[in-house]
Amino acid sequence: MKIPYVGCKLFMIAWEVTSKCNLRCIYCYRNYNEFHEKENDPTLIKKILKEISSIPSIKIISITGGEPTLSPFLKDIVKTLYNFNKYIGITTNGNIKEREKLASFLKKYKKMLRVQVSIEGDKKVHEFFRGRNSFDEAILTVKYFSERGIPVSLMMTAFKSNLEKIRYILKLQKKLGADFVAIERFVPTGIGAFLKNELISREDFHFLIKKVKRLQKEGNRIYLNDPIFEPKTGFGCSAGIYSLAISSNGLVYPCSKLRIPIGNIKHKKLSEIWKNSKLLKKLRNRINLKGKCYRCIYRDTCGGCRALAYALSKNIFAEDPLCPISY
Ligand code: SF4
Ligand code: SF4
Repeated sequence: MKIPYVGCKLFMIAWEVTSKCNLRCIYCYRNYNEFHEKENDPTLIKKILKEISSIPSIKIISITGGEPTLSPFLKDIVKTLYNFNKYIGITTNGNIKEREKLASFLKKYKKMLRVQVSIEGDKKVHEFFRGRNSFDEAILTVKYFSERGIPVSLMMTAFKSNLEKIRYILKLQKKLGADFVAIERFVPTGIGAFLKNELISREDFHFLIKKVKRLQKEGNRIYLNDPIFEPKTGFGCSAGIYSLAISSNGLVYPCSKLRIPIGNIKHKKLSEIWKNSKLLKKLRNRINLKGKCYRCIYRDTCGGCRALAYALSKNIFAEDPLCPISY
């Protein structure tokens, strides 16, 4: 019996450097009680940086939030991670007050850095999900950063209401000089749990996969960050296999969208959590998967989205409810 991922290495961290946010997107995967407007803990930031530096296999840090540009420590974090030789992604809603100052700072680190701006469709669709007056600022940020040579890409979450907006977003990407468009599935968890009617169906998902493949063939730079996109040859669900998420209060999760805490950096070393978490051990053994994912020939190379399985069934090992492959 094959037991995959024994000895797997932690490669990527999604770090929520702040819980503060200047928007209130209706699909946020965090809960209302996770917005701590007064948080300001340089000691914890230093501790997390130290933990990251102590694990050489970590190569990529995805800086998120909240809105990461609201963190008073963002510049120190970027500088330190750059000095640690880590590749840095910054995911922002693009509504950045001091855009010019931030751009001139980030420019110095552009060899090891990418800014990802969330765009959900045209102004109307975008602002339905992310709130009034959020679109124009996001567009300005993409344009401003790309004109200054800072690598920037667009990030779209796939909902029922924006599947028809993919070509529009691709046009924006080209017009604004962004490098590519990345798409992720919506996971109805946290605040987003109230938005289940926006969850795409299995048929929609099948359509999305085919559409992205067709657009790629046409030469577009568009990607679907999803284990099912290339279930045979892809990297599969990374949660606990080669990635983890850390929240702004030090809690560690298998994935930002799978908010089951497995430890806190305030009390435990990251390497210990990675090595000893019972949940991670279970996630690494895909024999634990249920239903279609258990029976699937792509179990080891795909594994389905554990966050979506959990959001819909409260069973982290349940089959991916949107998998379009039929057996
Ligand atoms: S059944 Fe599960 S493991 Fe197989 S392709 Fe679908 S999501 Fe992936
Ligand atoms: S749980 Fe879902 S969102 Fe998280 S890493 Fe796995 S596939 Fe990606």
